[in-house]
Amino acid sequence: MDSRTIGILGGGQLGRMMVEAAHRLNLSTILLDTPPDSPAKQINALNTHIQGSFADAASIHELATNCDIITAEIEHVDTHILEQLEKPEYQATKLGGKKVEIQPDWKTIRTIQDKYLQHKVLIDGGVPTAEVLPIQEASEQALKDVGSVFGYPYMLKSRTMAYDGRGNFAVTSEKDIPEALSQLGTRPLYAEKWAHFKMELAVMVVRGKDAVMGYPVAETVHEKSILRVCYIPARGVSKEIQERARKLAEQAVSAFPGKGVFGVEMFLMDDETLLINELAPRPHNSGHYTIDACPTSQFEIHLRAILDLPIPPTATSLSTPTTSSIMVNILGSPDPNTPWAHLDLARSALSIPGATVHLYGKGPGRPGRKMGHITIVGASMAEVQANAAPLIAAAFDTGE
Ligand code: ATP
Ligand code: MG
Ligand code: MG
Repeated sequence: MDSRTIGILGGGQLGRMMVEAAHRLNLSTILLDTPPDSPAKQINALNTHIQGSFADAASIHELATNCDIITAEIEHVDTHILEQLEKPEYQATKLGGKKVEIQPDWKTIRTIQDKYLQHKVLIDGGVPTAEVLPIQEASEQALKDVGSVFGYPYMLKSRTMAYDGRGNFAVTSEKDIPEALSQLGTRPLYAEKWAHFKMELAVMVVRGKDAVMGYPVAETVHEKSILRVCYIPARGVSKEIQERARKLAEQAVSAFPGKGVFGVEMFLMDDETLLINELAPRPHNSGHYTIDACPTSQFEIHLRAILDLPIPPTATSLSTPTTSSIMVNILGSPDPNTPWAHLDLARSALSIPGATVHLYGKGPGRPGRKMGHITIVGASMAEVQANAAPLIAAAFDTGE
């Protein structure tokens, strides 16, 4: 399909599913990650992978010497070396004249890495988000000042290195401020006005060479800030709101340069307005359903987009107009003494009509770690919900 080798920053489950999609298209991939047996390296023994960190300039340089285009399955990468790699003089002097392209644009990755700057770009682009306030120095007074502007509760967030809610603290009153400082005080911070939402939604969006296209709207259910279950299409959300959500997600992605797939998280507020929560410049957990419920998965579409391969307009639709889907995350058992308990959920799903089990090859589970997911697909949400009910009950019962 394309003779270029794709270098992927990160070799976790998103990289693993990207490699699966690449294999079907005869595309060559090589991975940069520290563990020699990372989830993505396990299923791609075709190439010599790089052992090193996606946050380390020398390792990314080494990846660049072995590939033609670099993409990422994670945003916490060193963007300074990515910036250098695209410069003609760097390519001439340090890469022996070899060209390398970065997709999505390193500027996009750099901005999205800092959630405060990300919000600023969205706000400047006229995209509705929660209001934000910068915090120059983490002090009791600074956090009280935020409270006097936003009221309580408000959300204190780390600007960088956030995932699964690690980096967020809900400040419910002045009394919470010492605890908020002890948890997040050493990190660069900003504050967000509390979003009174009735539901969280997420839309995968692809930008190829010609168009920006959104997938159907997923309803996302989080527990302790970790995504647990997705319903697609979002339940009880009118066609009008779904259309608005998809358009808003496309507008949000249009504020950032570069090709590839993006995960867009948003809040459906009590008054039915929509606010963007955050973007991920890569495939996203809320888009896993696209593997089993759409003609083209988020992983394949990402590869098509960065390589300028065709993306027909139906690529981002559900397989049929009534296709419905539920995705359940398989998390590591909360009990450290039962590190394989997550497999019970996976095994039980094998008997469910319409279910596909995806395991990530991470070995024994750690509490809360994403070990795999299950997608159930059917001809109506009622059918899929009936089939998925025991699985969802088991997932929440055991905390898996
Ligand atoms: P991810 O794993 O999705 O990258 P993250 O660590 O970047 O997570 P956020 O997406 O910022 O965290 O927030 C996690 C969850 O916290 C959201 O899904 C939402 O439930 C809640 N949340 C975030 N911001 C706000 C807000 N301003 N008001 C109310 N709730 C919020
Ligand atoms: Mg995030
Ligand atoms: Mg999030």
